[in-house]
Amino acid sequence: MTAFHTLDDAQVAGKRVLVRVDLNVPMDQGRVSDATRLDRILPTLRELSSKGAKVILLAHFGRPRGVDPSQSLAPIAKALAEHLGQPVGFAADCIGPQAKVAVDAMAHGDVLCLENTRFHAGEEKNDPAFVKDLAANGDLFVNDAFSAAHRAHASTEGLAHVLPAFAGRTMQAEIEALSKALEKPDHPVIAVVGGAKVSTKLDLLGNLVSKVDVLVIAGGMANTFLAAKGVHVGKSLCEHDLVGTARDILAKADAARCAIVLPVDVTVAREFKAHAENRITGIDDVRDDEMILDIGPASIKDVAARLAQAKTLVWNGPFGAFELAPFDRGTTGVAQEAGRLAKSGALLAVAGGGDTVSALNHAGVADDFTYVSTAGGAFLEWLEGKPLPGVDALRKH
Ligand code: AMP
Repeated sequence: MTAFHTLDDAQVAGKRVLVRVDLNVPMDQGRVSDATRLDRILPTLRELSSKGAKVILLAHFGRPRGVDPSQSLAPIAKALAEHLGQPVGFAADCIGPQAKVAVDAMAHGDVLCLENTRFHAGEEKNDPAFVKDLAANGDLFVNDAFSAAHRAHASTEGLAHVLPAFAGRTMQAEIEALSKALEKPDHPVIAVVGGAKVSTKLDLLGNLVSKVDVLVIAGGMANTFLAAKGVHVGKSLCEHDLVGTARDILAKADAARCAIVLPVDVTVAREFKAHAENRITGIDDVRDDEMILDIGPASIKDVAARLAQAKTLVWNGPFGAFELAPFDRGTTGVAQEAGRLAKSGALLAVAGGGDTVSALNHAGVADDFTYVSTAGGAFLEWLEGKPLPGVDALRKH
């Protein structure tokens, strides 16, 4: 973490601190339905507030085209106040006179949320004039939104170039966990890549085979790899046009001495629905009218044994159609084993990406993992080995 300025380096008392946070939370009928992201930013907000900073929040919500009251941050600021246990003021614009009046009225330690940055086109364009307007309300910039760091927008990247910039505590924890997992990991490193389709994870697989010792390919995407090895997959989800690409990835893994792990047995059904009639079978006996919806018990055991040999785990994507019982058994079985090893200190286990977080919550082990990233796109781009502009802008120059 020495490559970044953190809150340890910042003198914040009496300063106007612009804090980029992730308030892009799921909403249901005007109410926050999952507050995980709000809870994640509390340590930074509490620290800044208790040190006497004026804490000014910047965030986007949704994909508005111009000002759109249905995408206002006002209800989220209200929910945040409840989680923070402290009032959170609100200004109806993130720049201009409304923002200035609200900021000028703040006392030390106050928290103020400015309206959705994406109400201005300059946000996504990273327009220097808009960056300047945002910076007018701050003395320092703190970025605590790793999940938005794959985008070079005004409030995620531009501000870091015009104000003294620091990583917030959540950003710091995220960068530390991710670099421990892939940049300077303890070997052997095992990666699990699951999910529906190979086509969405080609870059990720290509990067991982050159970095990890063991790559477990799971979920629907394993079917394309099984097909590439000549296995009959019946009517399973399978991208037959990508069989050649799957072979290329297998060859690349071979050259990089990365062991590829595919299912040895599977749970198959004739219908894609919860509690569909199903059976467990070896991979060489999937019938024409059957689809693979999960791995089987021998595969769970196989992956568990490999986890027991590993020191580091990176995980994205489920082993099967985990939303549909009983096709959650593979994901839950492996997740519980990984959680047990991580909790005992034997394994550094990092997981992330949309469905993965809900899969680990479903298995009841998210808290046992070393780190679970709530970032979707940014976590995947990091796994793909791509630069994250919001993180790079925080590096010490
Ligand atoms: P992704 O968004 O790529 O991470 O994929 C997650 C989705 O993949 C989940 O909704 C799972 O239900 C789905 N999935 C996982 N395994 C299978 C499978 N064998 N067949 C169909 N869908 C699957």
